[in-house]
Amino acid sequence: MPLTNGDIPATTQTQLAAGQDLIDPTTAVQFLENEYKHQDGLDVHTLLDSKTHGGLTYNDFLVLPGYIGFPASDVALDTPVTKRISLKTPLLSSPMDTVTEHSMAIHMALLGGLGVIHHNCSAEDQAEMVRKVKRFENGFILDPVVLSPTTTVGEAKQLKEKWGFGGFPVTENGTLRSKLIGMITTRDIQFHPDPSDPVTSVMSTDLVTAPSGTTLTEANAVLSKSKKGKLPIVDSNHNIVSLLSRSDLMKNLHYPLASKLPHSKQLICAAAIGTRPEDKQRLQILADAGLDIIVLDSSQGNSIFQIEMIKFIKDQYPGLDVIGGNVVTVAQAANLIAAGVDGLRIGMGSGSACITQEVMAVGRPQAASVFNVSSFAARFSVPCIADGGIQNVGHIVKGLALGASTVMMGGLLAGTSESPGNYFVSHEGKLVKAYRGMGSIDAMEDKKAGSGAKGTIKSDAGKARYFSEGDRLLVAQGVSGSVLDRGSVTKFVPYLLAGLQHSLQDMGMKSLKALREGVNNGDVRFELRTVSAQAEGNVHGLHSFDKKLYS
Ligand code: GDP
Ligand code: 5GP
Repeated sequence: MPLTNGDIPATTQTQLAAGQDLIDPTTAVQFLENEYKHQDGLDVHTLLDSKTHGGLTYNDFLVLPGYIGFPASDVALDTPVTKRISLKTPLLSSPMDTVTEHSMAIHMALLGGLGVIHHNCSAEDQAEMVRKVKRFENGFILDPVVLSPTTTVGEAKQLKEKWGFGGFPVTENGTLRSKLIGMITTRDIQFHPDPSDPVTSVMSTDLVTAPSGTTLTEANAVLSKSKKGKLPIVDSNHNIVSLLSRSDLMKNLHYPLASKLPHSKQLICAAAIGTRPEDKQRLQILADAGLDIIVLDSSQGNSIFQIEMIKFIKDQYPGLDVIGGNVVTVAQAANLIAAGVDGLRIGMGSGSACITQEVMAVGRPQAASVFNVSSFAARFSVPCIADGGIQNVGHIVKGLALGASTVMMGGLLAGTSESPGNYFVSHEGKLVKAYRGMGSIDAMEDKKAGSGAKGTIKSDAGKARYFSEGDRLLVAQGVSGSVLDRGSVTKFVPYLLAGLQHSLQDMGMKSLKALREGVNNGDVRFELRTVSAQAEGNVHGLHSFDKKLYS
């Protein structure tokens, strides 16, 4: 590009014209902009050109640093997960029976991400988990559990066990929209000696209420002033119409990033199903439980079964967002986009517990999959999930830099206290938890790993995902093993997010949106990594070291 007058001083221009080296260092930036732009490193298209370099994985490249002009804490991580739903952070947990049940789903949502509840269980068990997520945090609770005057203390205790909360309104006829006569709290029933006494003998009757029509902000103000745990909202006849909980105010305070729907203030909930006829029944049960996002769980999503299921759901459940997959090629993605998906899940054979590429010789290196599918899907505003192969913060960053809107993790989260199952001590004396591929023989044969969940778990997900109808022999596409203890996701996920913010800061990108734009217009540059470059980038030459990742 010719130099323009005014950009570079005349003396320097003369030197340039004479082929001399630049001597005025203050012109370096203008020189870069005018003469040297995009010459250092590779743009994303050149990097991911598989005809030249083969299919790349995350470890095969690095992102080059940019200019830091802001603190890492300013980096915005909000991003879409489907066409209609956005999250404040880009992290998802995988629908695997050693990763995501209600506890993981609740905590991932509180921390700004999303947990997809697995389906290696009965539809009722899965729906129960969905309900637990949806009931965890509320604005106005529109369908509070209500007791009747004849409910006993023992029954109230059982209800507390079932639902996980013990604050219940008591009404004249035991239903919503009936006259409120008292409130029961956990403390009223906890040590009450006779479980057969009616709740009316222990309930409080000095009630603080607010009239229906009160806004959420006004009701929150009344609740914070009152010393009560719950605020019943009543109509002019003192019939209860909804309930507000003090613990929701606290959750709001402690988890400002929480993934919630604006109207209900409930946590967003996602769950997986297969694409068999019986999954339509499961879907209905999950939808009744309040599900927001359905993930169609197939290892090879480009099938007539999935396409028909997508069309069916979009037609019958217009309020539900559908994520299709898994896909790794543009042709697979095109079919699912045409069928109407609201999001795509990308990855085949890149998961830490999977052996698909080895056994089936089908799949694709994950960086190549993410780039090719998400560039195509972006043309239709379909957000993509980079699913599998995430071992550290760097992999998260790379998945996002290649165009994914979110990343999904299995093995990385399986060792946290919020995943199903108990810790046990490995042969080497380390604290570990079970982790298994959903296509492992164990998962397909329905041996629940660890001692997690409920014992009622019955498998069909593993088989549905990896086993064809009529097959006589199970061919494994995954392994079962264990992963190291990682503590609680309430510490681990914030570490991943802080790492992500620092990484974007190093690139000079103030948001995930800016990162995507920078990659697309070629401002964000990449470099391939040779095998020795990979060795250099890891700890080397030390006699011993301790790899503590955060404190
Ligand atoms: P409690 O004091 O034992 O009732 O329980 P908490 O106040 O600690 O937790 C109650 C949580 O469950 C809050 O996040 C509520 O929004 C949620 N929740 C959902 N449905 C209901 C309901 O019907 N009654 C009550 N009490 N809480 C509910
Ligand atoms: P990870 O985060 O452990 O690397 O990968 C998790 C992802 O691996 C899951 O979200 C899912 O897409 C994939 N996956 C889970 N189980 C299996 C399996 O048995 N075989 C294969 N091929 N992929 C699996």
